[in-house]
Amino acid sequence: MLLRSVLTCAIFAIGFAAQGQSKKTSSYQYTVDLTRVANDRVYVELTPPAITAPEITFFLPKIVPGTYAIADYGRYVTDITAADKKGNKLTIEKIDDNSWKIKNATKLSKISYWVDDSWDTNMTGPEIFWPAGTNIEEGKNFVLNTSGFFGYFEGLKEIPFQFNVVRSKDLYGTTGLIPAQTGASPNTVKLEKSADNKNKVVDIYKAVDYDQLVDSPLMYSKPDTAVIKVANAEVLIGSYSPTGKVTAKQIAESIREVLMAQKEYLGGKLPVDKYAFIFYFTDKPVLSYGALEHSYSSLYYMPEMTIEQMNQQLRDFAAHEFFHIVTPLTVHSEEIENFDFNDPKMSQHLWMYEGVTEYFAGNVQVKYNLITPEQYLQVLQEKMTTADQFKNDVPFTDISKFTLDKYHDQYYNVYQKGALIGLCLDIKLRKLSGGKYGLRNLLLDLSNKYGKNKAFKDDELFEQITKMTYPEIGEFFNKYVKGTEKLPLEEVLNTAGILYKEEEKYQDFSLGIGNENIGVVPVDEKPKLQIASTSNMNAMGQSLGFQQGDILIKINGETIPDLGPEFGSFIQRHIMAMEEGKNLSYLVSRKDANGETKEVELSAPIVKVDLFRKHLLDFDPEATPEQLAVRDSWLKP
Ligand SMILES: [Zn+2]
Repeated sequence: MLLRSVLTCAIFAIGFAAQGQSKKTSSYQYTVDLTRVANDRVYVELTPPAITAPEITFFLPKIVPGTYAIADYGRYVTDITAADKKGNKLTIEKIDDNSWKIKNATKLSKISYWVDDSWDTNMTGPEIFWPAGTNIEEGKNFVLNTSGFFGYFEGLKEIPFQFNVVRSKDLYGTTGLIPAQTGASPNTVKLEKSADNKNKVVDIYKAVDYDQLVDSPLMYSKPDTAVIKVANAEVLIGSYSPTGKVTAKQIAESIREVLMAQKEYLGGKLPVDKYAFIFYFTDKPVLSYGALEHSYSSLYYMPEMTIEQMNQQLRDFAAHEFFHIVTPLTVHSEEIENFDFNDPKMSQHLWMYEGVTEYFAGNVQVKYNLITPEQYLQVLQEKMTTADQFKNDVPFTDISKFTLDKYHDQYYNVYQKGALIGLCLDIKLRKLSGGKYGLRNLLLDLSNKYGKNKAFKDDELFEQITKMTYPEIGEFFNKYVKGTEKLPLEEVLNTAGILYKEEEKYQDFSLGIGNENIGVVPVDEKPKLQIASTSNMNAMGQSLGFQQGDILIKINGETIPDLGPEFGSFIQRHIMAMEEGKNLSYLVSRKDANGETKEVELSAPIVKVDLFRKHLLDFDPEATPEQLAVRDSWLKP
């Protein structure tokens, strides 16, 4: 998964601008009717497998793999009924958000319910990570994360599923699943007779078990697709862009180059024969967006922009999600192999699942010339700076193990510090092996040693990796991943001939607000910038007189645009226009002592102030041949 919070992007824009039962042969038969939308809900019907227990629990998932957050999909199910063969109702009792107990279960012959979507409701409880959520936009778009539509019975997770999607003829389903049949006659399933049945068709899909079902999202919309062939793999791109700003063809061109590079990175072959990229673009303001990986697809929820505006981000996202095929989809611990959808156990190794994946996504781009080495150093610097905002006194293995509860607010650091752990390991391995063996070799070796159907024991991974590599790697894990010592960035980067400086003071103009001062809050359902804290504000911010809680409305009389592609250039423009002798002004909305909101104008003369650059990285022009050898093996193919 990859999550970008607008918060962090906004911070950057401002901060950097100045710079069971016994085995059965039976199966689940589901039908979801996309032509039958009522009150923003769709109808789902299940013909269950044979049940031998007198009482059984029916579950929707509490959580799904890859998200590391509670979803409680059962909240979106309403009007659930259970019936016997003759249509008589059986007793079905709700136990909690995600489970229902059915009495006289041996007689069960049908379950039906309505499902609301997670993308547009006022549901209380946890917000479902958007790329794992569900969307119902009648006639236009349906995002079927199957975990939100289909459930399973206690102890009956490992048997086949079939599901039929009833759709209107003009919609197309993008998915990594290979359909058993598409466009079948509506008579295939018993639909209620209605006048417009002639416009309906049925797509039929099969999954070997519930894990594969949940691993297979679908998006239905008017077709906008492209197919590309990369080495051995056929890659499908399906896109939904509400105002038509971007097309599947444009995305395909951009992704093709990334996949070609990833193929080389993984040793000349892609690890799948078929894969689908499923893109939903939103034209609404967003607080966060992201993507979620699956074995044969990935699903993207992103702000709608033109291909030029999003090219780099698209590549970063696609590279990240595709590399998840290596870990956790191939290399993973027992917690993930035997995934419990309703009583999840977390692994200690998010540094690898998310961190190494994110590291690879950047490293592949510099290795195969999609970005320059200078741009790559910038990518690393951003990760270091963002990581500074998170806890550094807790073992990273604990952040991972307790990511569902006490360290949930630290999750975003898996993409920052997690990737930097990957960076250190890669350079260390290359140094120790004389440039012959890096982190990608290690992950490929781990893939061969373990694999999709063979998990490692969570507590033994460090030991296993140490055995496969060097004692120094074991020491590294002990000190910096299991331990709480600060990552040895300077020492490690130095071996690759990179000069590192933790901090440098300089003087420049500033809009007065630094990383640690700003936050994003929803105002009238739109994300707005708010002063989160005034401590450590630079001299410009102090003289403007910001107060905690101020909502920023205007800069120099100009309304601040929505957080999106225009925002960065807006900030840049106002920085560039700064000169001594002029004034800088803000219009903020501020609550007074009586709790009433008033607009307040803040203004102060522009002066150069003391600022700090953090984590400066540079190529050492005097690097030794030994350092250059490590650098080349790290940055070149
Ligand atoms: Zn990820």
